[in-house]
Amino acid sequence: MSSNIKIASVILDHYHEKMDHYFDYLVPETYQKSIMPGMRVLVPFGKGNKTLEAYIMKVWDSKEISENLKFIYSLIESKSVMSTHHLKLVHWMKKHYLCRYIEGIRCFVPSGLVLKSNREVYYENGIRMVREKTSSKDTPKKVLYASIVTSMPPWEELKTLMKRAPAQLKVLEILREKKTLPLVELIRLAGTARQTVKSLETKNLVLIEKKIVSRNPFRNRPIIPYPAPVLTEDQLKVWRGIKESLAKDPQKPVLLHGITGSGKTEIYLHLIEENLEKGKDSIIMVPEISLTPQMIDRFRGRCGETVAVLHSHLTQGERLDEWRKIKDGKVKIVIGPRSAIFAPFRNLGMIIIDEAHESSYKSEQSPRYHAVDVARARSVFEKANLLMGSATPSVESYYQSLQQEFHLETLEERIPGARLPEIETVDMRQEFKDGNITLFSQKLICRIKERLERGEQSILFLNRRGYSTLVNCFHCGNTMKCDYCDIPMKWHRRDNRLKCHFCGWEQKTITQCPECQQELVYKGFGTQKIEETLKEYFPDASIMRMDMDTTRQKGSHEKLLQEFGEGKHDILLGTQMITKGLDFPNVTLVGVLMADASLGLPDFRASEKTFQLITQVAGRAGRGEISGNVVLQTYQPDHYAVSLAARQEYLAFYQKEIQLRKNFCYPPFSDMILITFSGTEEEKVKRSADVSYKSFIYLLEKQGNESIENIIMAPVVAPLTRAEGKYRYHLLLKSGDMSVNTLKKMIKYVLIENKEKLIDSSVTTVIDINPY
Ligand code: ADP
Ligand code: ZN
Repeated sequence: MSSNIKIASVILDHYHEKMDHYFDYLVPETYQKSIMPGMRVLVPFGKGNKTLEAYIMKVWDSKEISENLKFIYSLIESKSVMSTHHLKLVHWMKKHYLCRYIEGIRCFVPSGLVLKSNREVYYENGIRMVREKTSSKDTPKKVLYASIVTSMPPWEELKTLMKRAPAQLKVLEILREKKTLPLVELIRLAGTARQTVKSLETKNLVLIEKKIVSRNPFRNRPIIPYPAPVLTEDQLKVWRGIKESLAKDPQKPVLLHGITGSGKTEIYLHLIEENLEKGKDSIIMVPEISLTPQMIDRFRGRCGETVAVLHSHLTQGERLDEWRKIKDGKVKIVIGPRSAIFAPFRNLGMIIIDEAHESSYKSEQSPRYHAVDVARARSVFEKANLLMGSATPSVESYYQSLQQEFHLETLEERIPGARLPEIETVDMRQEFKDGNITLFSQKLICRIKERLERGEQSILFLNRRGYSTLVNCFHCGNTMKCDYCDIPMKWHRRDNRLKCHFCGWEQKTITQCPECQQELVYKGFGTQKIEETLKEYFPDASIMRMDMDTTRQKGSHEKLLQEFGEGKHDILLGTQMITKGLDFPNVTLVGVLMADASLGLPDFRASEKTFQLITQVAGRAGRGEISGNVVLQTYQPDHYAVSLAARQEYLAFYQKEIQLRKNFCYPPFSDMILITFSGTEEEKVKRSADVSYKSFIYLLEKQGNESIENIIMAPVVAPLTRAEGKYRYHLLLKSGDMSVNTLKKMIKYVLIENKEKLIDSSVTTVIDINPY
C-alpha cells in the first residue's frame, strides 16, 4: 500500500482514570477530508464494541497498518465543538491541575450537548455507523399560548352572555387587551385555573396553540441605552497607560487597581467597545452574576444585543442556547461567572476580570481551576489581552505587578460627585465593659436613628464567616492562634480541643484568655436573632433580612434587592452576600458588625479577606450625592487588617501582609497543594493518607531535600469531619524553594501512577492546587 493511513487520537467521554489517555482509531474513507481536532465522534470500545462518545484531539497519518485498530463509527456533528486553541487549554489544565483530559473538555462542552441515548445504527460502505437522532434537549422550546379569536362577538353582548362566568370574562378581558399571552401567564394574571381557559376554547372564543420561544433569560429585561460619559482626567490617564502597555506587549496582563466608584467599569466598557470595533470577541467575568444586574444593564445598554449573559440560574436548555449563539458568532460579548472563561469564542480579543481577587473565581469542584489562571493561559494561547480590575487586588497579583509581570494602573479617586465615606471605628471591648452585651454599639444605634429621621437607608453587614468555632476573647479581642502557622485555632466541640487545621497541632480547650486572663465566651450569633434585637430598638422601621434562609428561592435575591432599591425598606441586614456590586444612591450608612470575625478563618488569607470585606462594604456607602458614614464595630481595632481598612490604605496593608507571607512561606512565595482523602471507613482513609505521606517523604529524601518538614505536613483530620457520612483527611504540601513542577510529578507518581498499590480502593483522593 502506498497511501498513508489516517488515524485519529481521541479522548473518550468517560471519567475512569484508566481511560485518561489517547486512544487511536482509523478514520473511515468518508470522513477523511472533513475530520478535524475538536470534533465529537462515536467510537466502538472494548470487547463488546460498546458505543462511546469521544473527542478528537489529533489527526495524523501513519505509514503502517496496525492490525487491531478499529474504525470510528461516525461524526456527531459536521463542525468541531472546540478549536485547537481550546484543546491547548485542555492540555494546560491537565498539566497544571493534574485533572483528567475529559474534565478539561467538559468545561468547554455544555452538559446539554452530551447525550447518552437516542442513537440509531446504520451501515455505510459496509461499516457499522451510529448517529444521534435529534434530541429532545436540543430542539427549540415550545410553549402554550392563548390568543383571542378574530371572530369575537361584540364585547357588550359577550359581557351579558358571560354574566354567570366571571372568571371566564376576566380571562377574555385580559386577552382583549393583550391579544396573546403564554397560557401560564394568562392563568396567573386572571387568578384562575387552566380549566377556565379550556372552557373558553371549547366555546371557540380562545385559541390555544404551541409556539416556539427562544429561551432567552433576558427577554423580560429591556435594553436601556447607556451613553458613554466623557472620561475624567484620571480615567484618561489610566486608559492611555493601558493602551500603551498593550501596544508594547499585548501578552502582559494589566492590573487595574481602583476603589469602588473610581470608574473602572467605564474603562472596561471603553476597552470592550474598541475590541468590538476590531471585530473581536470579549469575555467579562464577574464574581457573582446575580449580584451585578446593574453592571449587566450597563454593558447591554452600551453594546446591545451582542451581549450574552451566562449565569447559574439558566436551565440546561437556556445554557445550550447561549453556548450555540457564542459558538456560531451571533454574540460577541459574554458576561458571566468563572465558567464564562470557557466561552467557545474563536476570535477572542479581550478578557476582563472584575474584582479579580474574589474567591468565587476558584472552582471547588473538579477540575479545581482558578479562572484567573485559566484566563491567563487562554489569553496567551489566543493572543488576547487580559485585564484584571479590583478595589483590593490579591496580595499575589499586586506582588506580581511589582515584579513587572503585570502592568499596573491605579485610579486613586472616586468619580467626582461621589465621595468616600467617613469611617468611624468602634471598640466593642469597651461596649462590653460598659455593660452593652448586644451587637449594636451606641454609636451605630445613633447613626441608624439619624437615617430613619432623614428618610435615608442603612445597610448592616454581619461578618459571620469563620465565626461559629472561632476562639475569640470579648475582653481583649485576642484570637487563639497556632504557634507554628500563625493561623487561628478552631474549637472542636466533639472532643473539646483546640486544633490547627493547617499543621494538626492541638491542645486542650482553655477557659481563660492567655493575654488578659479573663474568661473566654464560646458563642455565636445568627442573623435572625440580630433582626429581633434590631426590631426592639426600631419598632417602626422596615427591616429586610438577606441571608441563606431568605434567598433560597430562585430569583428571590434580585427581588429583595429591587425592593430595597425602590426604597421599600429602611434597613438591609445581611451576610457577605450583600457586600458586592450594589449601587444604591439612598444608602448613606453602612454598619459592619464584627468586622474582625473573618480574622478567625483557619486560612492564611484571613487578614486579606478581612481587609477586602471591610473595604468592599465601606464602598457601599455614599454612592450618590449625599456622602456616607461607615460604622466599623470590632473587637480588634488595632489589628492591621482592620485599622488599615478603616483608613483605606491598601498599600500599607500590602506591605505588612507580604512580609508575613514571606516569613511563613505562603503564596506568592510558595505554591500550596492540598490533597484530600475521603471514604466511609476511617481506618482506610487514615492509612491511605499515612502511606502517601510516607511515600512523599521517601521521594524527597531520595532527592536529598534538606527541608522536608517545610514541604510536607503530616496528615490531619479535615475540618468537616464525617461530611456526608465520609471521613476526610488532609495532606498539605508547600513547594517552598522547590520547583512546583517537581512536586507535581511526585504527586502524580504517588496518587495517579501508583494509586492502586498505595491507596485503598474505597478511598477517593482529590488534588487541589493552591486551594482557597
Ligand atoms: P467602579 O467600576 O470603579 O465601581 P464605575 O465605572 O461604576 O466605577 O463608576 C462609578 C459611577 O460613576 C457610575 O455611576 C458611573 O456611571 C459613573 N461614571 C464613571 N465614569 C464617569 C465619567 N467619566 N463621568 C461621569 N460619570 C462617570
Ligand atoms: Zn498550626
